[in-house]
Amino acid sequence: MKPTNPLFTGMPTTIFEVMSRLAVETGAINLGQGFPDTEGPEAIRRAAADAVMTGSNQYPSMMGIPALRQAVADANRRFLGLDVDWQSEVLVTSGATEAIADAILGLVAPGDEVVLIEPLYDCYVPMVRQAGGIPKLVRITPPHWEIDPDALAAAFSERTKAILINTPMNPAGKVFTGEELQLIADLCQRFDAYVIADEVYEHLVFDGRAHLSPMQLPGMRDRVVRIGSAGKTFSLTGWKIGYITAAPHLLAPIAKAHQFVTFTTPPNLQAAVAVGLALDDAYYAGFKAGLQAKRDRLSAGLADLGFDVLASGGTYFVTTDTGPLGIADDREACLTMTREAGVAAVPVSAFYASDPPSTFIRFCFCKKDEVLDAALDRLARWMRRAA
Ligand code: PMP
Ligand code: GLN
Repeated sequence: MKPTNPLFTGMPTTIFEVMSRLAVETGAINLGQGFPDTEGPEAIRRAAADAVMTGSNQYPSMMGIPALRQAVADANRRFLGLDVDWQSEVLVTSGATEAIADAILGLVAPGDEVVLIEPLYDCYVPMVRQAGGIPKLVRITPPHWEIDPDALAAAFSERTKAILINTPMNPAGKVFTGEELQLIADLCQRFDAYVIADEVYEHLVFDGRAHLSPMQLPGMRDRVVRIGSAGKTFSLTGWKIGYITAAPHLLAPIAKAHQFVTFTTPPNLQAAVAVGLALDDAYYAGFKAGLQAKRDRLSAGLADLGFDVLASGGTYFVTTDTGPLGIADDREACLTMTREAGVAAVPVSAFYASDPPSTFIRFCFCKKDEVLDAALDRLARWMRRAA
């Protein structure tokens, strides 16, 4: 029989699924895949339940229900000071993953180059390739995760259609600085390129820093496709509601991709997310403070165990070296730690397309305090025994 698509055929299952399955099989505490172990705000879940019972359960409008598109436009103004027309500049998608796929399909034509920064979320490279694009990889590495401006500039050319960035960045916990974003903006203006900005952790920027979107920079308003996720913002990762903000000339082709990828997104969940985006400042402040405290709790516990804990300025994640585990290779370390210590994490090498740094692992801290403490206890016991 004819071969199936070589891009996907034989591709390994994503590391998140692999580690979560192993955690379930072995009864390990799962600090691998990024998802909270508490449910999102009750007001949002109740709004969804009510909408199922009293609202329409038929196809909603392709662009998303007006209430959610208006709420996304309002949130852009409230949190970033951006003026957004909800009718022509907002699209609702089935998760940020779909939003990324739609943005790539809508902007990238075969032969276009797309600059990607490693470590990267694992759908970026395959989606660019499937669109016929050519990934131009620029890497940043632990422990400092610094961008080399010359390497970044060298990745751009007249063939560059877009750069895809993720800030705050999974798994690094890196929050791009204003200077780094300006560097990217300057290159995009020089080479007439777009930015696809994966900002799913926009409400998880810690230590009093404000989230900065490249869309806020001078001259960038109409060059940036900004992507958010209700899953991350409201601790409802299973809902898969994403949203895109982009100027009309960019959103139009992206919406055409969306119409053939999923077409629509469950209307009841959309209605509930609109309620979420309108929650008061206390919700957002509490969410951020709560996760920052968890970052600090897990980071301190890991440091006490002898790990080199790298700074995390945002996201759900903190990364460490593998040193104190006595197993240098990150993948081996994660598999053995899951099976023997009963704590799952994710190898950072999984976020590089080739030749990765291989001695760093990612722990997810969006878990109940007692779960983080139990994971630290298990690790301590195992590391004592293994020593
Ligand atoms: N981008 C990044 C960087 C992520 O960590 C995630 C979370 N899995 C996504 C995109 C996808 O978000 P969603 O679950 O809304 O599709
Ligand atoms: N974004 C989540 C993580 O990095 C996982 C999402 C997924 O499993 N695809 O852990």
